[in-house]
Amino acid sequence: MADDLFNSFMKGPDERGRFGKFGGRFVSETLMPLILELEKQFEHAKTDQSFWDEMNDLWTHYVGRPSPLYYADRLTQHLGGAKIYLKRDELNHTGAHKINNVLGQIILARRMGKTRIIAETGAGQHGVATATVCAKFGLKCVVYMGAHDVERQKPNVFRMRLLGAEVIPVTSGRGTLKDAMNDALRDWVTNVRDTFYCIGTVAGPHPYPEMVRDFQSIIGKEAKEQMMAAEGRLPDTLIAAIGGGSNAMGLFFPFLDDKDVEIIGVEAGGKGVNAKMEHCASLTGGRPGVLHGNRTYLLQDDDGQILEGYSISAGLDYPGIGPEHSWLHDTGRAQYVAITDTEALEAFQLSCAMEGIIPALEPCHALAHVMKIAPKLPRDHLIIMNMCGRGDKDIFTVAKHLGFGMAEAD
Ligand SMILES: *Cc1c(COP(=O)(O)O)cnc(C)c1O
Repeated sequence: MADDLFNSFMKGPDERGRFGKFGGRFVSETLMPLILELEKQFEHAKTDQSFWDEMNDLWTHYVGRPSPLYYADRLTQHLGGAKIYLKRDELNHTGAHKINNVLGQIILARRMGKTRIIAETGAGQHGVATATVCAKFGLKCVVYMGAHDVERQKPNVFRMRLLGAEVIPVTSGRGTLKDAMNDALRDWVTNVRDTFYCIGTVAGPHPYPEMVRDFQSIIGKEAKEQMMAAEGRLPDTLIAAIGGGSNAMGLFFPFLDDKDVEIIGVEAGGKGVNAKMEHCASLTGGRPGVLHGNRTYLLQDDDGQILEGYSISAGLDYPGIGPEHSWLHDTGRAQYVAITDTEALEAFQLSCAMEGIIPALEPCHALAHVMKIAPKLPRDHLIIMNMCGRGDKDIFTVAKHLGFGMAEAD
């Protein structure tokens, strides 16, 4: 593999599911046959034209793809430097990029004859996307969600229930996303025959990180063609926010071998990347360990205990990051930076005021970094930022932080 690395960043993972020393398949023996069966089906689907025909048809008619690549002219003028394009994945059905991947996994599940879909969710966005596609295909859907998150994210819990999903509050551990993932894995082992585990980001044991990346890569493929059509050349810089890293991997992957394209992932810096760990910046402030079946950078204490992390944006507070990002970080192909809550809130308001787009708090982290670098770059420098979600879900959080009195409906 060493030789390949010099030629291409797009050949990973290797046959053991490793991206360099990251990734892999750290699972119990009972889970292994399931993972191998999934891998076999995914390998088959990759080159099966009928699979991709079905995906493309649903992406077009159900999700609303392609999403536009939009030149943000007022934002560009305001910042006074680089030319800023937004990849508008917030316009997808269900309001974010998550559905790109969910569709792929559920089509695969149906082909494998599975009738029951399980998923984990933190803020509820992946749960909503999964419940949506399950309703569309008449599949049973069970969503594991930390009890703490069930309380915090009532509107999404209600959405999932409206869509026919069963939401199971997880009280083990500290009742957060990490614990929900553990319970989902346990469910999978117990219900092998009819159940498919739909993971929401580029994490988990191989082949999930690769599979989710491939399904999300539609973002980068479209963006590349759209930029060629708009400017006749490739962009200079790509920027995306990172929770587990799926929207970022989706944008980045098709450009990994375009050596002149600079790639920047933006982690949630919370209240600052400090010793108290009031952030979710796994690469900037963590170190390698094993979680959810793969080796990657994690937030952990000196004894290797996984820490919860914190961010204003519920969708970014996963204590790990997809293993491919860890590898891109260590090889230097991509850079990773952190943005604080305060900076993200400023970006939120700028997007509303300059472009009439109310963004989710997750991509506001990417936008805040654009605000830092764009003014210093020349006017012919082309930036693509992934606007991966819309902000309807976040208006109460933002209102609270801006001191705008607005009681949350209950
Ligand atoms: C879930 C979510 C994220 C974080 O997940 P990634 O796998 O890092 O993309 C970011 N933005 C939005 C809008 C989300 O819903």
